[in-house]
Amino acid sequence: MTIKFHVSNDILVSYSAGTLDEASSLLVATHLTLCPHCRARNRSADSLGGYLLDSLEEAPVSSTMKDAILSRVRSEPAVGVSKTDSLSRTARDAIIPDPLRGYVGGDLDELHWRRLAPRVQQIPVPTVDGRSKARLLRFQSGLTVPSHGHNGRELTLVLTGSLCDRDSILYRGDIAETDERTEHQPFAGPDEDCICLAVTDAPLRFKSKMARLLQPFFGI
Ligand code: ZN
Ligand code: ZN
Repeated sequence: MTIKFHVSNDILVSYSAGTLDEASSLLVATHLTLCPHCRARNRSADSLGGYLLDSLEEAPVSSTMKDAILSRVRSEPAVGVSKTDSLSRTARDAIIPDPLRGYVGGDLDELHWRRLAPRVQQIPVPTVDGRSKARLLRFQSGLTVPSHGHNGRELTLVLTGSLCDRDSILYRGDIAETDERTEHQPFAGPDEDCICLAVTDAPLRFKSKMARLLQPFFGI
């Protein structure tokens, strides 16, 4: 299945510059493992970032230059993936891709899930910088997440099954990005459990009173 929903330019540029928080960087790096298109975009961002740094010494960068760079990142085609970029068989077959597998301690059959709510399990993913929270979530097929808004950014990377979010269906490798303006009620598709990596930099805002009451216990 082809990945349809990718890393946004803002996030990819921060990732390339090394200013993105650890949990979001982990999500981006895991998406890059699955997505040749974004690996090519990331290489462009890296090389253009290096060019920018070099040229800063000589002349200030005009906004036209910045626009040109951003549009290049945006339109970089998914070609030129070198042979060294192809992944080993083990890495390709893993359900939990690198580098996430290193953070959670193994592939799917080695994970220790904890109950978060009825039909929802989680594995908190520890990070050193503490700037945002990452967790692996497992929604039973058909589960609807309570309607909520956000006090910051939420990134979700689907790893198994499907997640229906705001008129789109996301499959393995797809990323959903939301901000303070987004209110949504995603639900897991019918065929298999949906496992996803979710990264938030602020607590969610649940609409139902029950969900708000339980929120402190779940830490989300
Ligand atoms: Zn991508
Ligand atoms: Zn959300």
